[in-house]
Amino acid sequence: MTEREIKTGYDFIVVGAGSAGCVLAARLSENAAARVLVLEAGSGQPLPEMAVPPAWPALMGSTADWADQTVVQSASGAVVGWPRGRGLGGSSSINAMNFNRGHRSSYDAWALPGWGFDDLLPYLQRSEHAPHRDPTLRGRGGPLAVGQAKDPHPLAEAGLAAAEQAGYRRATDISGGLEEGFDWVDLNITEGRRQSAADAYLGPALDRQNLEVITDALAHRVLLSDGRCTGVEYSVAGNLAIAECAGGGEVVLAAGTVGSAQLMLLSGIGPSAHLREHGIPALVDLPGVGENLHDHPMCGVVYAAARPLPPAVNNHGEVQGLIRTGGPDVQIMFVDVPLREDSLPGPEIGHGYTVISALMAPLSRGTVRLESATPGARPRIDPRYYTERRDLEAMAAGLRAARAIGGACALQPWRGAEAWPGCAVADDELSDWPPYNLRSYSHYAGSCRMGLDEMAVVDPELRVLGVTGLRVADASIMPAPVSANTNATVYAIAERAAELLR
Ligand SMILES: Cc1cc2nc3c(=O)[nH]c(=O)nc-3n(C[C@H](O)[C@H](O)[C@H](O)COP(=O)(O)OP(=O)(O)OC[C@H]3O[C@@H](n4cnc5c(N)ncnc54)[C@H](O)[C@@H]3O)c2cc1C
Repeated sequence: MTEREIKTGYDFIVVGAGSAGCVLAARLSENAAARVLVLEAGSGQPLPEMAVPPAWPALMGSTADWADQTVVQSASGAVVGWPRGRGLGGSSSINAMNFNRGHRSSYDAWALPGWGFDDLLPYLQRSEHAPHRDPTLRGRGGPLAVGQAKDPHPLAEAGLAAAEQAGYRRATDISGGLEEGFDWVDLNITEGRRQSAADAYLGPALDRQNLEVITDALAHRVLLSDGRCTGVEYSVAGNLAIAECAGGGEVVLAAGTVGSAQLMLLSGIGPSAHLREHGIPALVDLPGVGENLHDHPMCGVVYAAARPLPPAVNNHGEVQGLIRTGGPDVQIMFVDVPLREDSLPGPEIGHGYTVISALMAPLSRGTVRLESATPGARPRIDPRYYTERRDLEAMAAGLRAARAIGGACALQPWRGAEAWPGCAVADDELSDWPPYNLRSYSHYAGSCRMGLDEMAVVDPELRVLGVTGLRVADASIMPAPVSANTNATVYAIAERAAELLR
């Protein structure tokens, strides 16, 4: 047996170089006296498609994607694909580049000290450079240069006009978190290229002497001694190694909603009965680990196009609306792609489009569990979509809105027949239909929930309960869904975490 390599003396060990991990690496290493190590399971080499905004769907199933899937969902009787990023930038390197905050009511509903919208605003602002927006609300000078679509798709222009014709308000900044209505959403595209967390945060920090990044490094578990986290066990090309903290140093999990929950469980931190099933000693009985999993389910009204659609130059989804069926709880988006399950009939790409309805405040909650005690093995992901009846009703209301907008005059030049659900399905029957075209919006969150109760996993300073020197700072800590795509919120969580850690 070869001896394990042991690396010592780190003030911060960050696990995962995704959206959150890249922010943490860059911000924590701003202090030249702090030694920072980042461990990332994926590759350090970006794929060419990452830079090309409309090519992002081609990254699904690539080496930059863990390519998970859920267990069979009771609502649909089928599995659902769960892409998640792997490599520098994590999911920000393969995502669809919409950059928008949740509505302020999402954060205020978290009801945790320091995490209301007004508390988070400085961190949301710190991450971005949005010179086209109101400077009292939006940031200037942050690493992410965000902006609206250049050369917008004509379908998106028509969709924006159609929403106004259907009676919805035109927002002035739908990405800002204060408004409902329809607008051009901000995008992580600058000079025609994707800007990932690796591009914006990590890249510019890489030449710092105090920052070390190891790629192709799979974290196996965090190491605990007398209730304190002392480091991380990981492997590179099958060779085990250990990274140890300096006295007073901390480990920060930023492995994402699936990865961070999985690592906690592999480390013996979680519900003790589940750990025992896999022969893992329960070092810290923390019943909330892997619970509270949530995502935004997505559906939409699919149309055949009356004429061929021009190819997209941006991200396929440039205009968004936030509407309310209860609170601000449904997002509408126009995409130049017929978004339907392969088994459903309908037009092919280039000949169809979708008015998407995505549920922004789902009540259904699921779990991340271990399938096996082997590090890197696929975990058992069960989001339990639509297990709360209210979610189906809200989605049906969203589909009705999508249909009303899809039928407005401004879309008439593009509109062919309604391919799905189809004109035979009446508006009042729509709540039966979402499970047939059940898709994930890939906004996984909540599996290491922040809170103050006995099911919480981290406290409002992101410290893992019952362990010293271990925090979680990524999408997994969100207590409840935010009413927008999740990335902007993750950047703010990580900015705040960096400040808490410094
Ligand atoms: C296909 C897709 C499209 C999306 N579109 C949008 C969008 O348009 N707008 C938006 O706002 N949001 C979007 N999202 C969601 C958004 O990108 C995520 O919410 C956000 O990136 C999550 O950040 P994170 O830091 O929590 O996790 P991630 O960015 O996923 O980072 C986790 C990192 O940890 C690494 N890791 C995991 N386990 C280990 C381990 N054991 N050892 C070492 N490393 C490990 C992973 O490889 C990964 O690099 C999309 C997501 C996907 C997948």
